[in-house]
Amino acid sequence: LLVLGIESSADDSSASIVSSNRQILSLVTISQHSENSLYGGIHPLVAQSSHNKNIPLAIEGCLRQSGKSMSDIDAIAYTRGPGMRGCLTIGEMAAKGLAAGLGKRLVGVHHMQAHALTPLLTEPNPPKFPFLILLVSGGHTQLVLAESQDKFKILLDTLDSKIGDVFEKAARQIQLPTSPTKSPGAILESYASSSPLPPYDLYPLAPLPIPLSTNDTRDKAAFSFAGILSSLLRRIPPDTVLSENDKKEYSRVFQVAAVGHLVFKLKQTIVGLSHVGVGGLGGLVISGGVASNLYLRQKLQKMLSEIQGEREDDRMELHYPPISLCTDNAAMIAWTAILRIQNEKGFISDPYDLPIRPKWSLEDLYDDVESKPQ
Ligand code: ATP
Ligand code: FE
Repeated sequence: LLVLGIESSADDSSASIVSSNRQILSLVTISQHSENSLYGGIHPLVAQSSHNKNIPLAIEGCLRQSGKSMSDIDAIAYTRGPGMRGCLTIGEMAAKGLAAGLGKRLVGVHHMQAHALTPLLTEPNPPKFPFLILLVSGGHTQLVLAESQDKFKILLDTLDSKIGDVFEKAARQIQLPTSPTKSPGAILESYASSSPLPPYDLYPLAPLPIPLSTNDTRDKAAFSFAGILSSLLRRIPPDTVLSENDKKEYSRVFQVAAVGHLVFKLKQTIVGLSHVGVGGLGGLVISGGVASNLYLRQKLQKMLSEIQGEREDDRMELHYPPISLCTDNAAMIAWTAILRIQNEKGFISDPYDLPIRPKWSLEDLYDDVESKPQ
């Protein structure tokens, strides 16, 4: 089975060809970091017109890179949601046009399901259901229990800002430079880990206060990042031009607080899942753009080793996709469509009148389609 995937939910235009034997034959992603830096974030109309230009280029490039032609392709997959309406429409129309014109199967995919299922494509030893997924991206900060490939339960969500967005806002407050090839979050990470800062454990600067960090039961249900961002703002004197060293230090304190909060809440929730037991879970997957942050990966690994027991069946492996597949990409969209075609009884193709869903919870995957999984 060969599937052409198309992704256009936010600011990356991506196309990819993936086979059912877990091979990514090609992947072309064209990002809009320079446009975003002009507008201080994603501008919906600018993003839409960039997709207009870039989606055809990505499709053309990924066909060329794979050495395949459209006659080799069995199905066209696209991101149905969640995401920005105008952006989703561009990928949707490209996919529907190709499917209709060439008589291919059409599959509308949930973007966060695709982030969640990426390790099943990339890992030599993929996690087994049920497993936990920490989705950390520009639009989401959720801890999710994956019971099967199409059944998800959201255990923790954010009360306010999403972590990727908070990294971007912090990068602007800290006056970090922008780059046509790197997101502001990745730039902040490189400032936070660059010399001559001392090792993390010996860091002298006062930490930012971390919200909801008690064991009070009322504090348990959620993440919250707004307070971290406003205390960072209060720490930076107004109207000052920060030196390179200040930028590194502020990046460091911010990253320590944001990641510290995330890991604290995660630990609290995993320990509280005593009815499942750590050993009863097939692992912890981190996915979404912020999952490429190496400091976060280290901290999660450390937290897991603190809570897991010595017994072989009481271990919880950490799984994460390679950095290029943590951020938005069409390979994960094609792969999710392959899993659906292979495993969903009675599923053949989505209809042409299937609407996009800019807002769409992972808990409501198939609430509006006729062929529901059994
Ligand atoms: P969603 O997947 O929720 O729809 P999105 O598609 O915009 O949101 P992704 O592409 O998955 O998000 O992730 C992009 C986000 O990840 C951006 O906010 C970016 O700044 C952040 N990011 C990327 N690399 C890093 C990093 N190394 N450290 C922190 N944040 C990062
Ligand atoms: Fe994403």
